[in-house]
Amino acid sequence: MSHKRKNIALLGSTGSIGRNALEVMAQFPDRFRVTSLTANRNVGLLQEQIKRFRPQSVVIQDECNAVDLRKAIDGSTEVLVGEEGLRDVVTRSTIDLVLTALVGFAGLKPTFWAIEAGKDIALANKETLVVGGKLIMGRAREKGIRLLPVDSEHSAILQCLQGENLNAVERLILTASGGPFLHLQGSSLTHVTRAQALNHPTWSMGKKITIDSATLMNKGLEVIEAHWLFGLPPDKIDVVIHPESIIHSMVEFADGSIKAQLGIPDMRIPIQYALTYPERPSAPYPRVNFATLRQMTFLEPDVEKFRCLPLAYRALTMGGTAPAVLNAANEVAVELFLADRIRFSSIPDIIEQALDTHSPRHDASLDDLVRIDHETRESVLHLHSQTV
Ligand code: NAD
Ligand code: MG
Repeated sequence: MSHKRKNIALLGSTGSIGRNALEVMAQFPDRFRVTSLTANRNVGLLQEQIKRFRPQSVVIQDECNAVDLRKAIDGSTEVLVGEEGLRDVVTRSTIDLVLTALVGFAGLKPTFWAIEAGKDIALANKETLVVGGKLIMGRAREKGIRLLPVDSEHSAILQCLQGENLNAVERLILTASGGPFLHLQGSSLTHVTRAQALNHPTWSMGKKITIDSATLMNKGLEVIEAHWLFGLPPDKIDVVIHPESIIHSMVEFADGSIKAQLGIPDMRIPIQYALTYPERPSAPYPRVNFATLRQMTFLEPDVEKFRCLPLAYRALTMGGTAPAVLNAANEVAVELFLADRIRFSSIPDIIEQALDTHSPRHDASLDDLVRIDHETRESVLHLHSQTV
């Protein structure tokens, strides 16, 4: 089959998803051209990526780094800076698809701008939908663009839904590894260290999502992401713990039949699916060996121990801007934990407090979301500075 070669802007190319996405694209040079790369601070790795992929443009967050980078590379790649740089690259007429692999709230604005410019989106940055699901999905529909999930659970659900009628879906079942503290006593969570929380049993990922996986907030964010992607209410989105991470998620239909998508835990598979959808070009990733796997196990999530999961359901049920507050409070709490400034068990306390004091606004604009994110961060930091 012949393909039009797609020009890709990869936001967050130096991260875990970004590096995997470049490996996927490197396998299919006839399908993809790496047109733009962006990074926060990692100039060294970005420089290597520029040498290898020869993008037309790159974006780095800070001007000093941009100066260094311009000196280090030849003039054929343009070096842009900051948010304006991101806006510039995602709206360029040369770009066909934007892969959003940057982390946190920083993903919202560039994704919005890319949609406004009519670009297809491969979405790894789940925080975009958590914060602005209604706005983003609404504009994506109006613009007629394709927004495909990279997150493995949502990719699994999309795959299970191929050829199905959404009206026949009874519930979505998101699987979760359970993280490193699955079998720890609830009371011991207070004393876990940063190093223990960063030691994920099945997936190797960036720091923020690894902490989110340890608190189960990652699954909470994914429930909200699934709500916006597939249009089901919170009571039709369930979570089951599946420590082997072989089933990536499931869909149960009205007749009681369940479809699941399986594979080894390797993000290159869902990244490739989002980039080549609906095709499945052959790829050399390792396969599941059932003889060595032998068994798969399932457990109910312990919501008393992992309070971030019910907090995410609560925010989704509150609606409007509540998930944006949940997200901002979580991002600050994770940063404080990674800086050894709060205990692991304080993360849900901080988020709960932020939700308790919030009255959700409905139909928020991009500017409203930016303001609410900022206000929540300020108030969490202010409260925290009073308590230490
Ligand atoms: P990471 O920390 O490894 O990489 C983040 C990337 O974003 C880096 O390139 C960094 O330079 C860039 N970045 C960070 N902050 C930025 C900012 N303020 N402005 C611009 N760029 C910035 O993160 P990751 O694990 O690759 O995750 C990326 C996103 O994908 C997250 O939203 C995460 O939830 C989602 N995701 C990741 C995985 C995974 O396996 N890592 C799986 C599913 C979903
Ligand atoms: Mg996931």
